[in-house]
Amino acid sequence: MSQLFDLTGRLALVTGSSRGIGRELAAALAEAGATVILHGRDPQRLAQTVAQFTDRFGAERIHHTCFDVTDATAVAEAITRIETEIGPLRILVNNAGIQHRVPLLELAAEDWQRVIDTNLTSAFLVGREAARGMVKRGAGKIINICSVQTDLARPTISAYTAAKGGLRNLTRAMTSEWAGHGIQVNGIAPGYIHTEMTQNLVDDEQFNSWILGRTPANRWGTVADLAGPAIWLASDGSNYVNGQTIFIDGGMSVVV
Ligand code: NDP
Repeated sequence: MSQLFDLTGRLALVTGSSRGIGRELAAALAEAGATVILHGRDPQRLAQTVAQFTDRFGAERIHHTCFDVTDATAVAEAITRIETEIGPLRILVNNAGIQHRVPLLELAAEDWQRVIDTNLTSAFLVGREAARGMVKRGAGKIINICSVQTDLARPTISAYTAAKGGLRNLTRAMTSEWAGHGIQVNGIAPGYIHTEMTQNLVDDEQFNSWILGRTPANRWGTVADLAGPAIWLASDGSNYVNGQTIFIDGGMSVVV
C-alpha cells in the first residue's frame, strides 16, 4: 500500500463499531495498519466483535470501550481513559446512530430528542473530548458519518434528516475551529446501505424497488463500499481536505 494511506501506529476510535457500518469501517482502518478501539453500548455484542477482530488483527492492535454516546460524563471519562491507558487518539469516526420511523405529527418529543442526541449531539460530545488532545498535539482526523439524508428529506424520518443535516454543518463548524490546529474534520454521507438498520427496508418490496429506481448505480450500497473513502479521509492522503462531506450513494444525491 502507498505510504500515503498507511495508518500503522495510529490509534482510531470508531463509535458504534459493534456491528454494521462502524464494524466495517473499523476493519478497514485496521487493514490499513491502525490500532483500533471498538465501541458499542451492548457489552455482549461488542465482545463478539472484539473476539473476531482479535483473531483477525491480533490482540495488541484491538481495544474496546463501552459507553453511551449521548452521556456527556461517560464520554469524557471514556476518552480520558483511552488517552491515559491506551494512547493518543489520532483518528475518530463518529458513526453511532439510530433511526426512528414515524410521521412528524405522531413523533413524541422524547423520540425527537433521542434521535438528535444520538446522531448529532454525540458527535459534538465525542468530538470535543477527542479534539482536546488532538489540538494539543497538532494532529488528528475526525470523520462524521452523515447520510444522503443530509440534503434530501423523506417522510417519517424527519428527526433523523434534521440531525444528519446538522451533522454536516457541525463538520464545517469543527473545521472552522480546529483546521488551524492540524485537525481535518470531514464527513461521509452514505446512501442506502444494507445493514441491520435497513434490513426491514430491504425486505419491503415496494421500498426496495423505489431505492433501485432512485439510485443510478441500480443497487443498494454495501458496507464495503465505504471502506476506501474512510481510509483515505483517515490518512495523510487527505491532509488538505477540510470540512467536506463525501457522498457515497451510487449517485442518488445528484439525480431527481
Ligand atoms: P446499526 O444499527 O447497524 O449500528 C448502530 C451502531 O451504533 C451500533 O454499534 C450501536 O451499538 C451504536 N449505537 C447506537 N446508539 C448508541 C448510543 N446511544 N451509544 C453508543 N452506541 C450506540 O447502524 P448502521 O451501521 O446501519 O449505521 C451506522 C451509521 O451510518 C449511523 O450513523 C447511520 O445513521 C449511518 N447511515 C446508515 C445508512 C444505512 O443505510 N445503513 C445510510 C446512511 C447513514 P449497540 O449495538 O451496542 O446498540
